[in-house]
Amino acid sequence: MTDLCLFCGIIAGTVPSVKVAEDETTFAFMDINPGSDGHILVIPKRHSKDLFEIPDEDLTAVTLAAQRIAKAAVAEFGADGVNLLNCCGADAWQTVFHFHLHVIPRYLDKTKDRLVLPWQPGTPGDLEAIDTLGSRLFTTLDGQLSEALE
Ligand code: AMP
Ligand code: ZN
Repeated sequence: MTDLCLFCGIIAGTVPSVKVAEDETTFAFMDINPGSDGHILVIPKRHSKDLFEIPDEDLTAVTLAAQRIAKAAVAEFGADGVNLLNCCGADAWQTVFHFHLHVIPRYLDKTKDRLVLPWQPGTPGDLEAIDTLGSRLFTTLDGQLSEALE
């Protein structure tokens, strides 16, 4: 619980919200600026700033709750698909610094759906850069795994 955190305020009930689900570890409510009809946020009750800070058990619980809520939302609202989104860091569009997963139902009917991708899917990348970055990350992750096993 952080006094200045908007989402901690929602969990405490001092900030109003439209609740859609709650369990021991997680809380889910409607997003006030929905990207599509039925846009929901799923959060851990325990405060964590972001993806890098959230403990394993809270991340697991939020992800499983988001899956359950996504299935129910698609069925209930007659959506054609759903996006899960997490923003980690201000430069990655995070605006509220209490970890949350967006559950965004998607519709062929664009009167219900205002989401557009910020890049053009299918634009070919630089194969050399893809290979270089992938190899660098593989080496780093492989090294971390070896260290953990030592
Ligand atoms: P992000 O940009 O990923 O940090 O997402 C923060 C989300 O919180 C945005 O989609 C906002 O519309 C939503 N939001 C902010 N304040 C509230 C609120 N009081 N109730 C519900 N959703 C909110
Ligand atoms: Zn918080």
